[in-house]
This record gives sequence, C-alpha cells and structure tokens, in this order.
Amino acid sequence: MNDRRERRPARPERIKATHVFAGNPIDRGEVERRDEEWLTAQANSPASRMLPMWQLNVPVSAGQTLSWFNVDQLRQLQVDSEPIFLGILDGLPHFVVDVSAADRGAVESDGLTFEDARTTAEYLSGPESGIVAQARAQLSWHGRHGFCAVCGHPTRIARGGQVRRCPQKGDGGCGTEHYPRTDPVVITVVHDGDRCLLGQSRGRLVAMRRYSALAGFMDQGESIEEAVSREVMEEAGIQVGAVRYHSSQPWPFPSSLMIGCHADAATTDIQKDDEEMADVQWFPRQEVLLALQEKSEILAIPGPTAIAHHLIRAWATGEAPQP
Ligand SMILES: [Zn+2]
Repeated sequence: MNDRRERRPARPERIKATHVFAGNPIDRGEVERRDEEWLTAQANSPASRMLPMWQLNVPVSAGQTLSWFNVDQLRQLQVDSEPIFLGILDGLPHFVVDVSAADRGAVESDGLTFEDARTTAEYLSGPESGIVAQARAQLSWHGRHGFCAVCGHPTRIARGGQVRRCPQKGDGGCGTEHYPRTDPVVITVVHDGDRCLLGQSRGRLVAMRRYSALAGFMDQGESIEEAVSREVMEEAGIQVGAVRYHSSQPWPFPSSLMIGCHADAATTDIQKDDEEMADVQWFPRQEVLLALQEKSEILAIPGPTAIAHHLIRAWATGEAPQP
C-alpha cells in the first residue's frame, strides 16, 4: 500500500462548487481502487463508512445530514448487494450500498429516513449533495447494467464500481468493458437585449406558471454550440448567434451533466414545438427580476437547486455578458 500511495497523483485543489450536486469532497481513489484485495478488505472493515440507499433514496438523519452505516449495521440488513467504492474522505474508505432488498420500515429508525435525492438537495450541505450525486448516479448505473450490451452475458463489477466487465470468451462472455456514463444536456438562456426566452415543457409545471431555460440532450457528433443552436431552433424556432458557456451541474437523474449557456438571439419570432412545449415566451427583464423574488404574477422560475435559476439570475442581474 505504501508503494502505491507514493505513486498517487497529487490531489487537485478543490474546485469551487457553483451548484448543488457539485463539490463532492471524496477523493475517488484512482490508485486504491485497482487493488481488488484492498477493496475487499475495506468493504469488510469496521472503519469504513457505508451509505445505504433504498431504491435510490438518500438516508438522512434527523439533523438533515447524510446517515452513514458501519459494516455491522449493514450486515444486520442481510442484503446481498456489492458495495460500490466512492473513494476516500478523511482517511476513511466510503462506499454506497443498495439496500432496496431490505424492508424500508426496518431500516428507517433512530431518526434515519430515506428521502428523494431532489428533496435532499434543498437542505444538505454542498459537499454532501456532491456525494449524493456520485452515489446515486453510480448505483443507478450498476442497477441497469447487469448484462453485457454486446453479448448479453452477466457482467461483473471491477475497480470498485468504475467498470463492469463481461467475462472473457473462454468463460462464456465477450470480454467487453463497460464504463459508467454521463449524459450531457445543454441548457440555455437565450436573450435579445432586454428580454429572455423561457419555455414550459408539456405536461409538467404548467399549472405552476413555471418557465425555465430551454434544454435538451446533446446528440452524438455535436459540439456544445451546435447542440444549443439545434435545441433552441427545435423548441422555439429561434436562431441563436454567439453561445457562451456559464457553468455546469451534475444532475444524477439518472446521470446527466447540465451544461449551462447563454446565447444571443439572432431572430425573435417564436415558432414553438407543439409536441414538446406547452409554451415559449419572451419575458422582459423586469418580470424576470420580480420572478427571482417570487413576486411575479405571471412567471415562476426554478429554485436555486437548479442551474436554470442561476443562468436566469446571471442574465437578469447583468452578470452574464449581454448582446
Ligand atoms: Zn459480452
């Protein structure tokens, strides 16, 4: 272990987290996780910290912090799921474990409750919400990738969860390695000077007067700028000019990365996609500023857990470059 530690790359200085779900303080243990023996020992060590998640819900204490188990507490649940190694924090190995096979009521005790991850984002500390983002995305991916996408053979966890391997050909598989993926989404506030373009997706949020920045998954073979341009054209019929990157946010539902941008409008006539969008409108800055204070009668915008809030705020308050 000492040799390995010496080879460890220096830990980068903590990046300042801008958004909820960013700012995970765990060192992902790139070197340690290659040692299967070490991992097995840590997964059975009384010093290790285990985060039990029940159907991807987050264990929260009465004091609204994450509730960690030790190995003994976990064993009492008698679940048969393999711990996923998150990494090392304060010198201790940290794991996430799927305890969905246990009776939820039996696990929820002594002030521990399982909460929806989106809800916990409203009160957990920034670093803890970062841990939730990693833990939830990892557990969700493993839950959906038990079989090889190439040959259909069951796959096995390796490197503590950083990869799933299909067995070699001689053992019935095809040897393919599968890696947990992150799906990039572009989310953009388009503006034309004193107005910004916000939309309302069909089905949700309509009754709440809730509008947000336009967003969509990036296609393959597309740059961020091209994805922004295509999404805004598809959803609103607006041509954009310059696109500027603002910030990004991990969004573990199940494993997106929101890429926040501002874009100048090159045209202003809205032709919305009726199938996807209930409404798309230009909103004047005054109205958006009211909405930020929750004082608008016609517009509600997402709360500060969402990157959309900060993109809209940056534009409305003049922090973002104006066309
Ligand atoms: Zn295979």
